[in-house]
Amino acid sequence: MVLKEAGASLEWTELADREPGNGEIRVQVAACGVCRTDLHVMDGELPDPHFPIIPGHEIVGRIDAMGAGVEGLRIGERVGIPWLAHTCGACPYCRGHRENLCDRPEFTGYTRDGGFATATIADARFAFPLGEFGSDVELAPLLCAGLIGWRSLVSAGDGSHLGLYGFGAAAHIVAQVAMWQGRSVSAFTRPGDAATQAFARGLGATWVGGSDQMPPEPLDAAIIFAAVGDLVPLALQAVRKGGRVVCAGIHMSDIPSFPYRLLWEERQLVSVANLTRQDGIDFLRLAPQIGIVTHTTRYPLAQANQALADLRAGRFAGAAVLVP
Ligand SMILES: [Zn+2]
Ligand SMILES: [Zn+2]
Repeated sequence: MVLKEAGASLEWTELADREPGNGEIRVQVAACGVCRTDLHVMDGELPDPHFPIIPGHEIVGRIDAMGAGVEGLRIGERVGIPWLAHTCGACPYCRGHRENLCDRPEFTGYTRDGGFATATIADARFAFPLGEFGSDVELAPLLCAGLIGWRSLVSAGDGSHLGLYGFGAAAHIVAQVAMWQGRSVSAFTRPGDAATQAFARGLGATWVGGSDQMPPEPLDAAIIFAAVGDLVPLALQAVRKGGRVVCAGIHMSDIPSFPYRLLWEERQLVSVANLTRQDGIDFLRLAPQIGIVTHTTRYPLAQANQALADLRAGRFAGAAVLVP
C-alpha cells in the first residue's frame, strides 16, 4: 500500500520482490500495526517526507532472505521491525547512548519503506527477535505503541499516580504496564467519549473522565498521547508540585499560551522522541512477564485506508492491525 504524495490515499501497488543488501534482512510480513504517526506521514505533517513510501512501522514477520554480514538471526525466525530503522553510529547522540536522537537516522515507513506490504527489507541490527510466544497480530502494537509508550513511562518517573491523555493503542498498553508496577492510572479521553472511558475502566483505570476534567487527586505525572496541544496546559494543571508532563507524540497541534503558574513549582514539561534499541530489548523482555493483552481490530492489508480513517475518527478501541 503505497503513499505517492501527502494528502493522498494509499494505493495497492504490485512491486517486484527486492533482495536484501549487506546487513539487511527481508521479512515476509505477518501483521503490521497502524499508528497515529502513519496519519502524520500521510498528512505531510513531518519534515522532509519521502515519496513514494510504504508506511507502517509495527511489523511482525519472518525472515525469508538475508544479505551478507547478518549476525544473530536466521531464516524463518520471527522478528519485529520498529520505527527506528537505522542510526549513523557516529554522531554525539549515537555515541552518548541516545541513538533515538541520532543526527542522521532512518525511520521505517517514513524514510524507508515499511510494513503495509507483503514483504519488507530492514537493517538486521534494528530488528528484534520475538520468539514464538504470542500471536503476530497481538504482538504488532508492541512495536511502537508499546515501545514508545514504555519510553514515555520511564520518562514520566516512578510516581504512583499516573494520568494518560488519549486512551488509544499506546495508552492501553502503558496502563497495563503501570498497573503491573503497582501504580494507579487515570484515563483522560475526548470529552463525552463514553465508549473509550468504559474501555479504560475495563482495563483497570481508577478514574476516567474527559480531558477537560480535573482528576480527584493531583497526578504525579501525566503522559499525553493525543496529538492535541490544548492538552498540555490541562495536564500541567492536573499534576502536583514537582510533577512531570511527557508529550509522547511525534507531532502535536500548537500549544496554546498558558499562565506561568501552571509550570511554576518545578513542574516539568518534556517530550519523548523515537526509541533506542535498548528500549526495545528492555520492554520486549518485560512484556511476556506482565502478560500484556493488546486489544486489536484486524483489517486486510487492502483495507489500510479504512483502518487509517477509523483510527482518525476514533472508531475502535485499542489498536488496528493490518494482515496481508
Ligand atoms: Zn547518529
Ligand atoms: Zn508509531
